Amino acid sequence: TERGGMDSKQSNATKVLMLPWLAQGHITPFLELAKKLSTKDFHIYLCSTPIILTSIQNRITKTQSLSIQLVPLHLPPTSPELPPHHHTTNGLPPHLLPTLMNAFDSASPDFSKLLQTLRPDLVIYDFLQPWAPTIASEYNIPAVEFITTGAAVVSFFSFLAFKKPDVELPFPELQPLLGSFRNAQPNRPVDDGTDGKPTPMLECMKKSSKMILFNTFRELEGKYLDYLPISIEKKIVPIGPLVHETDHHEENKDSAIMQWLGTKDELSTVFVSFGSESFLSKEEREEIANGLELSGVNFIWVVRFPVEERTEVEEALPVGFLERIGQRGLVIDGWAPQAQILAHSSTCGFVSHCGWNSVLESLKFGVPIIAMPMKHDQPISGKVVEDVGVGVEVKRDENRKLNRENIAQVIRKVVKDESGVQVRTKARELSEIIRIKGEKAIDGVVQEFMQLCNRGKTI
Ligand code: UDP
Repeated sequence: TERGGMDSKQSNATKVLMLPWLAQGHITPFLELAKKLSTKDFHIYLCSTPIILTSIQNRITKTQSLSIQLVPLHLPPTSPELPPHHHTTNGLPPHLLPTLMNAFDSASPDFSKLLQTLRPDLVIYDFLQPWAPTIASEYNIPAVEFITTGAAVVSFFSFLAFKKPDVELPFPELQPLLGSFRNAQPNRPVDDGTDGKPTPMLECMKKSSKMILFNTFRELEGKYLDYLPISIEKKIVPIGPLVHETDHHEENKDSAIMQWLGTKDELSTVFVSFGSESFLSKEEREEIANGLELSGVNFIWVVRFPVEERTEVEEALPVGFLERIGQRGLVIDGWAPQAQILAHSSTCGFVSHCGWNSVLESLKFGVPIIAMPMKHDQPISGKVVEDVGVGVEVKRDENRKLNRENIAQVIRKVVKDESGVQVRTKARELSEIIRIKGEKAIDGVVQEFMQLCNRGKTI
């Protein structure tokens, strides 16, 4: 993780400094993009807080040939409202996100120094780091925005920001979400501390040099990608799906879980996980546990708790649950190797919060989705999943409460019942499309980056 100090091979390569946001769901696509670019004669500086860099170190050091250097960005001591572990958003209460974003403004002197020392040809920044392109432009370095969420989310927000209330939303499947995103209601699905104001995200897009990258692909989100240029005068470049690629090192670490999965029949087991940031309420845990039990399907369920609610997994589940399910289910405390589990031949469905990475990982491996969106962009992604036909959403009641019978019924439909054949087929089809497309999306963008860099080489 040193700054500078390149060998001669690196000094000939085009240097790209990448600045992801501090969440696993943002780091992963940035890291996968870094890996791909580093095989195409780019030298990558991946820049983040030390705590984040440590968490991803084992995902790159094992692969010797990659030209990726981890570069620490030091956040100065910031607002007293932020908890001590704020150098990652893991477990951070959503209402503190804007405070953390502001804290980055004060990291800008360190970022400036990095640009002076490393002299990158190009900066690729996250849409939650809007100060980065401003500083890059001071050094005449082109800066391209990489949006790690879906195009539907940005289309929806740009519609909300730019259209008058009487104009019809061009996406009927997103219509049911309009009310909750427009009015800050107590139970609205988006609880990101911004009062539902999408404009900072769109403002940030205007600063991007010439193009904006999206972690998506046309067969999944074509209509949303086509809608975007109307409001944003940039070339929209889908470069996805960039999903977590595992290596042998990671496989060994989690072998107990994989061994358990290996004892199950082909296409017999659902994976249940709600991402790296979401936590279930006690009530939701109860309904999901009962729903899984009622479904009769094998499962691996990752249960997570916020730091302040630390408890034993057994205590967090309904009384007698673990005994009743016996060998049919495996409950994991905290973290499981999601990509490996989804890739496994025993896995037949994914009960997911519809974080964008989770959606893409599921599709890569042809696994249909039982959608249970919670907050942020997830309700929008849940509707995309259903509209494209690769999953079914578990409907909540008018108070946004889950119901065990619904959960069980949707699980059975998606993984077993005759009525779910189309969903299973569509998920397999998209997985095949992803396999055939392979590296083509990245090849396309390499040329564009080269052109941009030639213009920016005057520092
Ligand atoms: N993840 C994982 N194991 C877990 C939970 C999450 O490997 O137990 C990974 C998952 O594969 C995905 C990322 O963490 O790459 C979560 O990103 P996503 O966008 O799905 O959701 P978020 O965490 O941002 O809500």
